[in-house]
Amino acid sequence: MGKLDVKILRYLTPEDFRVLTAIEMGMKNHELVPALLATQIANLRYGGVHKLLKEMCKHKLLSYERGKRYSIKNIFTTCYNKFLDDGYRLTNAGYDYLALKVLTHRGTIHSFGNQIGVGKESNIYIVANEEETPLCLKLHRLGRTCFRNIKGKRDYHQHRHSVSWLYLSRISATREFAYMKALLDRGFPVPKPIDFNRHCVVMELVEGGPLCNINEVDNVETLYDELMDLIVRLANHGVIHGDFNEFNIMIKDDGKPVIIDFPQMVSTEHENAEAYFERDVNCIRDFFKRRFGYESELYPTFQDISREDSIDTEVKASGFTRQIEKEIDAFLTENGIDYKEEKDNIDNEDSEDSEEEKYENCVDNIEDLKYQLKGLQLQNEIVVKEGFDASTR
Ligand code: ADP
Ligand code: MG
Repeated sequence: MGKLDVKILRYLTPEDFRVLTAIEMGMKNHELVPALLATQIANLRYGGVHKLLKEMCKHKLLSYERGKRYSIKNIFTTCYNKFLDDGYRLTNAGYDYLALKVLTHRGTIHSFGNQIGVGKESNIYIVANEEETPLCLKLHRLGRTCFRNIKGKRDYHQHRHSVSWLYLSRISATREFAYMKALLDRGFPVPKPIDFNRHCVVMELVEGGPLCNINEVDNVETLYDELMDLIVRLANHGVIHGDFNEFNIMIKDDGKPVIIDFPQMVSTEHENAEAYFERDVNCIRDFFKRRFGYESELYPTFQDISREDSIDTEVKASGFTRQIEKEIDAFLTENGIDYKEEKDNIDNEDSEDSEEEKYENCVDNIEDLKYQLKGLQLQNEIVVKEGFDASTR
């Protein structure tokens, strides 16, 4: 998505949003939502809905696609020897507008500014509330990866994202919000989480820049110690950041670090916790060596942890709603997703195709993909703010 055309928010009527929401709901178990189904869900007249659907395709909030006749086995689609009906699906922009509408309606967001970042799995914008306080809006964009399926490749390419990215992006945002809140409550230097809806998180805007843009610091040793201390403190609270690198550490104007980017956090109880912990530590050691020529004998190991509490457990226990749990369970079942099985498939991926073709438009990084799958599978880790269900629509 390019620039967020927020003007459109003002022009969309309540009926437009009703139809957009109907497509979103339909996509829970349909690749493509037929107009008739959308009409039923929206509970509006067919003729009217048809016109609105067309209009929203023109604005690229929806896209209309011909159903394919194909036979595939792909974890992110519902199609096993199925005929797909022609129908509509939400685009990124359509999903953005649903969330932004809710966030503006609640008064969380009042105006929009520029895009300030494109992360690996997100787009970042500056927004402002009514008091004109600048805030940071993070739109999570997961599920842009896919599984290669040699036989069905051509056919399923078009459809592979439709269902998965709604879930993955929403799960990612929800986790991020919950972790940020839990971390802030414990005095960690993280941006204050303000609100979220669907795949969007609104948080405090950190004044400063990412560590990767910093070439000089007042006291290298102090910063190094502070960062290592943060890794240990996180672990003492039961979590490992999992992506603790110079891109996810902001340095404020006063030189203090702020940690960002939490959807991938893992528990210290995870079977690979020690490896994740070491990777975070090594990221910092490597960066300091590379950038500042600084090396220290001192760095924490997994054995240095002394557990105080478990953010992970608390976060899971607190905000859980049965609703999203059930919804995702149903999604996994309907889609025949078995993490174990799919993981093996990836590991054994044969290599008839050239490397390029293999990953064409597909997976940036197999680790990411496994992570995303795990995100789906480890549904118990999905965390939801109280009142999430009521606020999503
Ligand atoms: P991703 O998961 O895509 O890596 P990040 O959360 O790391 O997303 O954000 C991407 C970039 O956006 C960061 O490197 C940083 O430059 C900027 N950014 C993210 N959150 C904030 C924030 N709260 N305040 C200021 N800049 C931010
Ligand atoms: Mg990041």
